[in-house]
Amino acid sequence: MITFSDVSLRYDARHTALSNINIHIDKGEFVFVVGASGAGKSTFVKIITHELVPDKGDIIVDGVKINEMKAAKVPYYRRTLGIVFQDFRLLTEKTVFENIAFVLRVTGAKTNAIKEKVNRVLDLVGLRNKAKEFPSKLSGGEQQRVAIARALVNQPILLIADEPTGNLDPSTSEDIMKLFNEINHMGTTIIMVTHNKDLVNSMHKRVVSIEEGHIVGDVKKGEYDLHV
Ligand code: ADP
Repeated sequence: MITFSDVSLRYDARHTALSNINIHIDKGEFVFVVGASGAGKSTFVKIITHELVPDKGDIIVDGVKINEMKAAKVPYYRRTLGIVFQDFRLLTEKTVFENIAFVLRVTGAKTNAIKEKVNRVLDLVGLRNKAKEFPSKLSGGEQQRVAIARALVNQPILLIADEPTGNLDPSTSEDIMKLFNEINHMGTTIIMVTHNKDLVNSMHKRVVSIEEGHIVGDVKKGEYDLHV
């Protein structure tokens, strides 16, 4: 699914964010990416989403060498990814339904297809009954569920989550992880950046540890073993 070969990226002479990264992630895997603030986690994720292109090395995602992708193809590539952020990033003036439908409307989907797809993902995250609400009426956990539904509505090959539980309490975070587990069991590859040691340790998934731009640990059924 994803292969990094000797990938390096520096922002400027003083900031080498990633050095010679080599990693392979298979289709269907669930991978935690952990490390201290400034370690290079966001840079790693932004290379996958093509927000950043490395100075050196190749990245192949689903058979495509994305570092050589033409600019015109990038928006289409991004639509094959589902991305979830710490701060939800919902449109406050749109209902739950519209927040998700919006993603489909830009691809020119038909009204009936939109309704069916939005309802399907709302069922998946357990929020069909909140379709007409505005985000401000929902709890943090519910808002994150809407963001997850939105990320899934185009049936992405990959779900990328950057600190998705960073704004949530422990029990809501556990619920979100159960949902991620279900999504992963349905076949979606998941990459999740997190600082949440307890969550990582409770899940027994692959753990990739990054320190100062290097991968210093990569363990199947691993634990959070950095002291950060
Ligand atoms: P993390 O997500 O693990 O906190 P980042 O990938 O954001 O780490 O950052 C990795 C390194 O790159 C850090 O040293 C950070 O200061 C530096 N960095 C990140 N973004 C920029 C930028 N836009 N310009 C210069 N340096 C940056």
